[in-house]
Amino acid sequence: MTLEPTRTIAELEELRRLTGDENGAQRVAWTRTWEQAREFLRARLDGTGAREQVDEAGNQWFTLRGASDRELVIGGHMDSVPNGGWLDGCLNCLAGAEVVRRLAGEGEPPVTVRLVSWADEEGARFGRSLFGSSAAAGTMADQDELRKLVDRDGIGLPDALAEHGVSLDGALAARSQLANAAAYLELHIEQGPVLESLDLPLGVVLGTFGVERSRVTWRGQAAHAGSTPMDRRRDALAGAAKLALHIREIAAEVGGGAVCTSGGVVCRPGIVTSVVETAEQLLDQRHLDADDLARMLALAQEAAARFAREESIEVEWERIWSIEPILFDETLIELADESVREVAGTSHRLPSGPLHDAAEVSRSGVPTVMLFVQSLRGLSHTKLEDTRREHLALSVEALDRLATKTIAWLS
Ligand SMILES: [Zn+2]
Repeated sequence: MTLEPTRTIAELEELRRLTGDENGAQRVAWTRTWEQAREFLRARLDGTGAREQVDEAGNQWFTLRGASDRELVIGGHMDSVPNGGWLDGCLNCLAGAEVVRRLAGEGEPPVTVRLVSWADEEGARFGRSLFGSSAAAGTMADQDELRKLVDRDGIGLPDALAEHGVSLDGALAARSQLANAAAYLELHIEQGPVLESLDLPLGVVLGTFGVERSRVTWRGQAAHAGSTPMDRRRDALAGAAKLALHIREIAAEVGGGAVCTSGGVVCRPGIVTSVVETAEQLLDQRHLDADDLARMLALAQEAAARFAREESIEVEWERIWSIEPILFDETLIELADESVREVAGTSHRLPSGPLHDAAEVSRSGVPTVMLFVQSLRGLSHTKLEDTRREHLALSVEALDRLATKTIAWLS
């Protein structure tokens, strides 16, 4: 059986008709529509000989037994956000199904090949993303918080899970699913503007950004806006303003895709007739390299201390949240690069801003790589999400080539 990328596109369009409405995709996890989407995936693998199993966390697996127990895993997610796009997550699964169909037609593969549709990647209903993949990766450590989560209608997460045969306490047993995984591949729409701006259909993802989030509190002195001469002011906002602009220089100096955002500043007393006494600034810094990320933070802190001296104010830093960069496997990145060059002529390597199921799998120690296909206007999580048909076809081909190369690598 030969690969038929046009069939994948036709299936994506059929899935859109089945599980979407005039506002977009409605495949929210732990709902009837999501089950319908999973039923759709099941039917696509009918007759391939791939055995279906739903694990303790609700992940849906299709296993094509090979000559060896070592496993190549291809993953995606059938769930969407409410009013979502037609490609996010399900392109991965349906392209993976196409690859499994092609492989099944050629007899027993040298290694076992599995397709997984991860449960609740989006976390749209309960606010907890990467549910199924974190359970399988063994990184789910928030069972007590998960127990308390409720949706907008007051339904608790454990009850919603139970309706789909999943027990929150049992979910961690999904860990055993990755025991024989030797490589993990995931194709995804980019959900950003980089590939479109380079006029390239496909890219290879190097990993997911590390993130440092800080609250920077500046303290000066409230003083009358009319009676306080300019050279006598201790203006907290002046420090925040200097830093908000200086982070551009830091990003340029560190380079390598560094991004910094001053996402908010709250001023007190916050009235037109007073110099600002306190300014609470939120800072988000991201980089793919852990040392560069640490340097970005140190540079911002140094600059902030200088601005505080210049403005005769005080500054204090507090870390709100952070996560290490997650780097994908070097061999698989090379194989992905080759695959993209073969089908599209040119490849481009880029980091991922958003987290993906692939990040959880990679964290658990399974060699992992992702392919991105161009998103039109960089839009996602909206019904406007789209990708050119010819680019979708290329992405299915690239995933297929990558699977072939990976199987050869594992054999
Ligand atoms: Zn997704």
